[in-house]
Amino acid sequence: MLELKEQVWSQFLEFIKTRISDTEYKNWFEHILVKEQNEKEIVLEVPNIFVREYIIDNYKKDMQIFLPLKENGELAINFVIKEQKKKKFKSHILPPDINSQEDLKFNTQYTFENFIEGPSNQFVKSAALGVAQRPGKSFNPLFIHGGVGLGKTHLVHGIGHFIKSHIKNCSIKCVTTEAFINDLVFNLKNKSMDRMKRYYRSLDVLLVDDIQFLQDRLNFEEEFCNTFEALINQHKQIVIASDKPPSQLKLSQRLIARMEWGLVAHIEVPDLETRVAILKHKAHTKNFSLSDDVAFFIAERIFSNVRQLEGAINRIAAYSKLINAEITKDLAENLLHEMLSFSPSKKVTVENILKNVASLFEIKVSEIKGESRLKHIAQARQVAMFLAKELIQESLQKIALAFGGKTHSTLLHAWKKIANELENNHILSRQVDMIKKNLDS
Ligand code: ADP
Ligand code: MG
Repeated sequence: MLELKEQVWSQFLEFIKTRISDTEYKNWFEHILVKEQNEKEIVLEVPNIFVREYIIDNYKKDMQIFLPLKENGELAINFVIKEQKKKKFKSHILPPDINSQEDLKFNTQYTFENFIEGPSNQFVKSAALGVAQRPGKSFNPLFIHGGVGLGKTHLVHGIGHFIKSHIKNCSIKCVTTEAFINDLVFNLKNKSMDRMKRYYRSLDVLLVDDIQFLQDRLNFEEEFCNTFEALINQHKQIVIASDKPPSQLKLSQRLIARMEWGLVAHIEVPDLETRVAILKHKAHTKNFSLSDDVAFFIAERIFSNVRQLEGAINRIAAYSKLINAEITKDLAENLLHEMLSFSPSKKVTVENILKNVASLFEIKVSEIKGESRLKHIAQARQVAMFLAKELIQESLQKIALAFGGKTHSTLLHAWKKIANELENNHILSRQVDMIKKNLDS
């Protein structure tokens, strides 16, 4: 029996090794021992509670494939925490504190100078600059949130660059939330928590990216919250980036309240002019000249993610170098075909959109045109409005009228809402793609 169970665990390890990096494997799995087993369960000894929590949070699905389950489908694993032997603390035999030293390098491109401003991000950008000029003295913490690819990480690094080049002897660290957790686990394992605490609490500026990854990590959250409070109490600057506003994060009320303490700033989806300016700037840094024509052509079709705009420019620039020719609209369309949201040649009508949306959402066209605020109907209506604004070259007033006499601001509002949602809501984005495909054919 013993052999059998050990085998199951080692099979699982073999499998998981192929799925994760060496470092992850070392951090999370290498120190787990199979302690005991009986008919019903495996007993695993883990170095500490964080390891248990982390692997359950992150690898439960994988484990369920390989390891014995209880009748209710839960894992039949009993975790025990390794007993801490009282060792003499000998600091010189501890491995170097690699994680803490491993400073996240600031991306050299992510400077304030390279950040193109527009109405969607002006407010956040000036808040970031304010914080960089007077760390700990203006808004604390600064909490930046917004959808994927809208420049949160860019601004966080921008703050880092600015401080490094303008303020002497300011100790600054930029971590992703993943790295913070890794750091925590590493130091717990090596019994060097004191040192980690000392290190974090000695910082003048702490920049934390992607705080959403702290959700559902109860124990890590507490340590983070303590660090946070210790720094804020000493008027050290904290900047946090997140894909959601604090109130929508699944974190403790205590931490949410702390994060709302300073300034909460939202990065929105850039408008058309800003997207064009970003494209032109990116082209310029690549020594590549982009005509207004082509810039607008792309910016009209890639609207909710700056990273995708960059992808488009990279592709076009590479091609242009290759064939050594000017890029035209047609060429751009060919090159970017899969990236672009629609091919503009087909004539799309509001009626067509309504029909397609109604059929996908399984409601009636009259319901979309109507006034119902039922959630699924309102959502379908907003999707239809979004598509109409994207795909139809008509005045907003005219399009809005075709929706049973709505106003153009309703249409704009719907467009904005869906454009924002598309980045994070994969189901919705697949639905929108499906409708577009249908409209195309
Ligand atoms: P997020 O962290 O919000 O997902 P990033 O900061 O990684 O987004 O930005 C994605 C890419 O888009 C980066 O390469 C960044 O330089 C670029 N980018 C985003 N916003 C802007 C902007 N306003 N001006 C210039 N580049 C931008
Ligand atoms: Mg980011």
